[in-house]
Amino acid sequence: MRICVIGAGLAGALLAWRLAQQEVRVTLVTGNTTNQDASRASAGLVRAFEPDRRNADQAGRGLAELRASAVLSGWACYREAGSLYLPTAPIPVAALAEIDHRLPGSVSLVDAAEVATRFGLSPVDAPPALLERHAGFIHPDRLRHNVCADLLARGGEVRQATVTGLRQERGGGWSCRVAGRFARADTMVLATGAWTPALLSTTGLAGGGLRAKVIQYARYRVRDHSLPAFVDEHTGLYGRPAGPGELLLGLPTERWNATPGQAHASATEERAVRAAAARRLPAMATGTPVEVTAAVDAYAPDGRLVLRRVPGAPGRLFTFTGGSGGAAKTALAASADAAGELLERRSPDQPTPMAEGTQT
Ligand SMILES: Cc1cc2nc3c(=O)[nH]c(=O)nc-3n(C[C@H](O)[C@H](O)[C@H](O)COP(=O)(O)OP(=O)(O)OC[C@H]3O[C@@H](n4cnc5c(N)ncnc54)[C@H](O)[C@@H]3O)c2cc1C
Repeated sequence: MRICVIGAGLAGALLAWRLAQQEVRVTLVTGNTTNQDASRASAGLVRAFEPDRRNADQAGRGLAELRASAVLSGWACYREAGSLYLPTAPIPVAALAEIDHRLPGSVSLVDAAEVATRFGLSPVDAPPALLERHAGFIHPDRLRHNVCADLLARGGEVRQATVTGLRQERGGGWSCRVAGRFARADTMVLATGAWTPALLSTTGLAGGGLRAKVIQYARYRVRDHSLPAFVDEHTGLYGRPAGPGELLLGLPTERWNATPGQAHASATEERAVRAAAARRLPAMATGTPVEVTAAVDAYAPDGRLVLRRVPGAPGRLFTFTGGSGGAAKTALAASADAAGELLERRSPDQPTPMAEGTQT
């Protein structure tokens, strides 16, 4: 059984690495550069709580795995800075219980007055905030590179090349065109993030509702603060510590249908972040940013990073993308789920090795 994973962002790298730990031959085609992808730019906030129950399940499992593994937390440069989530509606008791079950002692509720005195956020009339002790942030780019190195050490194949086309083969397999040649696999997975619709269109397939949107944040020098990683549903502001006297801060953008690899920093959006910070973090005084980061991520209609069959494509062609601005949290568990699904769907009567073809 040969599985080819195209794209070495966090999603593709972790999926290939999970598969390499099973009895499968894996090829990971990385693309020529990862400099412009979402995993390189990611702010890496990780916590167990997510408003979507299924994303929360994956975020919680991923965080528990990360914390239980010295290897993974080292590869990911995990920092346990904590996480503060400021909701507009009360957090369901069941969600708290689930986090407590996975990460005992991690969660507590904090009322608005305490949020103001402990963390410097302006008081609002709001339900209690959720504080997670066992949460923080990772370095998704380093995790992806460390995972790729281990994949190689385990005998997986890593090809630094860009796939320029796809082709269905007789017998149900698929080939991808790499460096002018078609390479065949029993199962082809496109973990190509926001580039996925363009790659599918090379073979006349539709993108399954995937959309691309810019995410932007900036790094600011601030006065001493006691903030953990945080998300404020009231303003949309999110952020995390970024070293001594520095904070990353961002707001959601509405820059849809962006071209992956070509996100530009928007000065208007950056100013909106400072204005929101001035209202919500009045003691913090953020000056001009040290650095602004912008990149494009793939958004699925259900907001989830999961394995999906490609609509209208026969055989074993899948996508594994759609993290929707949140897959640094979910990628560990989502990749374990996806690997399990691919191996369950394995059909042992069709063992077609990957082979170089000659047709372009
Ligand atoms: C600015 C920013 C901040 C974020 N902050 C957070 C956060 O704080 N917390 C959180 O949980 N999530 C965050 N996210 C979201 C999270 O980082 C992403 O959802 C996740 O990294 C997506 O990973 P991916 O592998 O699906 O996509 P990508 O990282 O975009 O990877 C796709 C890869 O496919 C490759 N590729 C594309 N086409 C081809 C081809 N034809 N052949 C070969 N390779 C190809 C690309 O080069 C790329 O390397 C953030 C995202 C951004 C952009």
